[in-house]
Amino acid sequence: MSIKIDSRTDALIMVDVQRDFCPGGALPVPEGDQVVPAINRVLGLASWLSVATRDWHPPDHCSFKARGGIWPVHCVAETSGAAFHPGLDAKKMRRIVSKATMKQAEAYSGFQGTELAGFLKGRGIRRVFVCGLATDYCVKATALDAKRAGFDVIILEDAIRGVEVHPGDCRKAVEEMQAAGIGSTKTTDLAV
Ligand SMILES: [Zn+2]
Repeated sequence: MSIKIDSRTDALIMVDVQRDFCPGGALPVPEGDQVVPAINRVLGLASWLSVATRDWHPPDHCSFKARGGIWPVHCVAETSGAAFHPGLDAKKMRRIVSKATMKQAEAYSGFQGTELAGFLKGRGIRRVFVCGLATDYCVKATALDAKRAGFDVIILEDAIRGVEVHPGDCRKAVEEMQAAGIGSTKTTDLAV
């Protein structure tokens, strides 16, 4: 069943489609780059509000192993690894939201410590479509926070990929989002 995009009240949130999260990067998500063609297709479907979040860490961020965190060094602000995937249609991004920019605080969600909720509400947005990386971390956290902030939320299931630190993490993340009332669809089912 197709879902009709209303460019006045719908927005697209692209979570962390950055080089370090793609194959060859510092913290690669398997097949992470494969979300790019699907995202470009939905970016071009309508003239709608699109927001790209990005991990934008200081070099000594608390999530890094050297600082007691669980991740290798990744997405350090202003480095090539923190850049968006070069295949992403960057000129169609209307807004970039940087997160986890302070060394003491981790932020998986694009809403955590940012102005994203107020920005979207100020533009009259009521529903958000969420895609990007990684399903079991930043996509999940961003989608759940969007729901808590009062938006209707739909995951684009063919435009997300997960890390799977533990097998089954992606499936659990999807179930958790569904339990929170978040819908899902495929990019090929979006229409204008
Ligand atoms: Zn990070």
